[in-house]
Amino acid sequence: MSDIIKLLPDSVANQIAAGEVVQRPASAVKELIENAVDAGASSIKLIVKDAGKALIQVIDDGCGMSVTDSRMSFERHATSKIRKAEDLFAIRTMGFRGEALASIAAVAQVELKTRRHEDEVGTQIIIEGSEIKSQEACSSSAGTSFSAKNLFFNIPARRNFLKSNPVEMRHIIDEFQRVALANPSLFFSLHHDGQEVFHLPKGTLKQRIIHIFGNSYNERLVPIEEHTDIISIKGFIGKPEYSKKTRGDQFFFVNNRFIKDAYLNHAVTTAYDELLPADSFPFYVLFINIDPVHIDINVHPTKTEIKFDNEKVIYAIIRSAVKRSLGQYNISPAIDFDA
Ligand code: ADP
Ligand code: MG
Repeated sequence: MSDIIKLLPDSVANQIAAGEVVQRPASAVKELIENAVDAGASSIKLIVKDAGKALIQVIDDGCGMSVTDSRMSFERHATSKIRKAEDLFAIRTMGFRGEALASIAAVAQVELKTRRHEDEVGTQIIIEGSEIKSQEACSSSAGTSFSAKNLFFNIPARRNFLKSNPVEMRHIIDEFQRVALANPSLFFSLHHDGQEVFHLPKGTLKQRIIHIFGNSYNERLVPIEEHTDIISIKGFIGKPEYSKKTRGDQFFFVNNRFIKDAYLNHAVTTAYDELLPADSFPFYVLFINIDPVHIDINVHPTKTEIKFDNEKVIYAIIRSAVKRSLGQYNISPAIDFDA
């Protein structure tokens, strides 16, 4: 019998990888706005139609791409953000896997328009299901516009699996808010079916929180700041009396990347102690800065989980920082600083 193992064609490999990176419209939104942040944009506009099922478009004024790079950007494992294995321990960008554009282009009808500030003409690429349909010079404003139409057009089972528009839109807004909170010095907007849902002018973190969650947050926030040799913590925690019955508005960022971490969430919640009404959850937006050698982000393709090499110490620092902030704002009657 002859040998039977064959390398898969790129388009098939990309489609398989896309299954992990692009689960729903919101995952494409996350990857595209993170790319705009990494490109040094100061303005990031997100336009979606039909809760992202018909269109997801991100327009930025970042660095743009050369003709060759714009073609390369769709190759799998092609990235400008890392070069060698050691770079994995010094990641400061949102992206580094070089998978997002290849994955999105494998499962959508994509149009990329991009121009570097130093170039006179831009490049337009149309690619559908990993197949390049056209590449040509075009006039374009400096920066990048990336649109993905009819997500999963070539995978009917996936498309049918998408939830109702309100559910998909909720996921998109979650991803949008996370990146917007992490980057208050950048302008963000979100349009859905022709209506502006968010318009977030550049400002401070506190202003960004108030723009997203409403004016009432002006009175609800307690600042937090703590610097140790291992980590620094900055951000805001909510006064206990404004905690909610539903979990939700709780945000941890590690080196500006939103992450989900039940253990660290526990550090914050237990710091409130009996200040917190039963079964309620405090608001927080916390930024942890740590030398990237101490973390591994490469746990999952969506990069929302992190491994710390000294998790327990970080837990203790966060917990005491939250206690201290609550105490300083005269909310807690007795603070146990040694806890
Ligand atoms: P990663 O972000 O992990 O590098 P992507 O597939 O998301 O991988 O993007 C591939 C490359 O395309 C990036 O490394 C970057 O050089 C380029 N790129 C993607 N989006 C943009 C953008 N909005 N502006 C400029 N360059 C971009
Ligand atoms: Mg990326």
